[in-house]
Amino acid sequence: MSSAAEARVDTAYHRLREHLAYLGLATASEELAPALERARDQKLSPVEVLEDLMSRQAEVTRARRLAYRLRFAHYPLRKTLADFEFDYQPSVDRTVIAELSSLRFVEERRNVLLLGPPGVGKTHIGIALGIAATEAGYRTYFTTASDLVAGLQTAHIEGNVGSKMRTYTGPSVLVIDELGYLPMDQTSAHWIFQVVSRRYERGSIVLTSNRGFSDWGQVFADQVVAGAILDRLLHHATVVNIKGKSYRMRRHQDAFAGEKGAPMI
Ligand code: ADP
Ligand code: MG
Repeated sequence: MSSAAEARVDTAYHRLREHLAYLGLATASEELAPALERARDQKLSPVEVLEDLMSRQAEVTRARRLAYRLRFAHYPLRKTLADFEFDYQPSVDRTVIAELSSLRFVEERRNVLLLGPPGVGKTHIGIALGIAATEAGYRTYFTTASDLVAGLQTAHIEGNVGSKMRTYTGPSVLVIDELGYLPMDQTSAHWIFQVVSRRYERGSIVLTSNRGFSDWGQVFADQVVAGAILDRLLHHATVVNIKGKSYRMRRHQDAFAGEKGAPMI
């Protein structure tokens, strides 16, 4: 190459790096020199060089967006379906959970209701489904029922309920944990109703509760509101009813089982 041609390539190289940096493609900008070197060594075609460079950028961008979505969703713990011991909880149908983990329910805006006594894995499965959806690219959000109510009530008093409501209505999946642990007054029931009805047929709710549907009138202190909430939640929903022992207690249960054979002194 003549020195004039070399100078032209050099200028183009620097401009390209600047364009990439300006467009926020920092990785592509940094990786440009090594990518060009690989192109020379391996005699890659222009399209192959571009693909090599941009796939590195895409990988970094994908990871950054996932980290952002996970931060936004603020799951209290990291749980996966792979960690869930189905053998311990036979009332949880593996095929139902496998179908849910396909995330078709998110696409179809269906709800998932996880019911059962404490410690049986409702929150675990709820978080795992939410994280799976986040990893698949969906925006999700985790809240307890009482935080949701408190958040909306405070926002209402402060006059910014609209933006708080969007936190709960915007994401493709809203995980509402622990509905029913605390009984709700009329105002609280109103906020739950608002969120459920705004999300109805627009976005999925994954909800956990230790109370059966027949108790919901009591939970919301109002049969009519409870009925209206349930009606919308259940219209398109998968209900996972877990009947079993608390996983938290399993070590103690093993200990009790061991004691059975022990001699009485
Ligand atoms: P719940 O929400 O039904 O009260 P959690 O989901 O909080 O119960 O479960 C209690 C603890 O036990 C959590 O740490 C959870 O990860 C774990 N756990 C529950 N069931 C299982 C299971 N079948 N396999 C593995 N871990 C489980
Ligand atoms: Mg729980």
